[in-house]
Amino acid sequence: MVNIILLGPPGAGKGTQAKRLVDERQMVQLSTGDMLREARNSGTEMGRVVAAVMDRGDLVTDEIVIGLIAEKLDHAAAGGFIFDGFPRTLKQADALGDLLASKGQSLAAVVEMQVDDAALVARITGRFTCGNCGAVYHDHTHPTAKPGVCDACGSTNLKRRADDTEDALKVRLMEYYKKTSPLIGYYYAKDKLTSVDGLAEVGAVAAAIAKVLDRG
Ligand code: ADP
Ligand code: AMP
Repeated sequence: MVNIILLGPPGAGKGTQAKRLVDERQMVQLSTGDMLREARNSGTEMGRVVAAVMDRGDLVTDEIVIGLIAEKLDHAAAGGFIFDGFPRTLKQADALGDLLASKGQSLAAVVEMQVDDAALVARITGRFTCGNCGAVYHDHTHPTAKPGVCDACGSTNLKRRADDTEDALKVRLMEYYKKTSPLIGYYYAKDKLTSVDGLAEVGAVAAAIAKVLDRG
């Protein structure tokens, strides 16, 4: 069982790569962003609490996201977990280490996806996803073959995120640099960190991540 973290700023390509790993390696994607959006859509109390925070681009509390992840780790994943968008703070990173240890598990690697900040605005403002299967697209770099129809599942429920605006991205980037980027040093010091070029094309990034996973 190989558990990995995909680490990088919003728009780095974490979700895109996580979906490929799910398809190719039977791994389980744990995206706290997706879990929080699901809570909002189903109108839970927690969903109501986090809605405004997410739309601004701020981080929600450590307690909430650690709780979400703890629930998911109860169900073992044969191919391993991909942590996507979690951890985002040092407290979350410590909690993840404790949670995995309590289940007799560990982290195989942390893959830092390096991208230029300048590329992120274009990536984020062009992003849309399938509301049915979660496939990730881009207006220019990865449009659907047929306009308005998901290539993967045929759904016409294609959506844009409320926080994928230039203004919210500025807040999200600041949160990343203030609270999440210290994790790069944290995992380097734990001998877990590998950095890949997130600006390369999707297939080349996938190949770089596969190399990390296959080195055992
Ligand atoms: P994250 O999950 O890190 O926020 P996404 O995987 O949702 O990032 O990718 C953000 C946007 O960038 C999407 O529209 C996606 O299609 C596009 N994208 C992802 N990886 C690449 C890449 N290697 N090259 C060009 N565009 C990419
Ligand atoms: P994402 O889908 O990963 O871009 O996350 C969208 C939003 O959800 C973020 O801007 C935060 O408001 C919230 N969020 C997701 N994951 C976390 C996390 N690990 N810690 C705190 N907030 C999070």
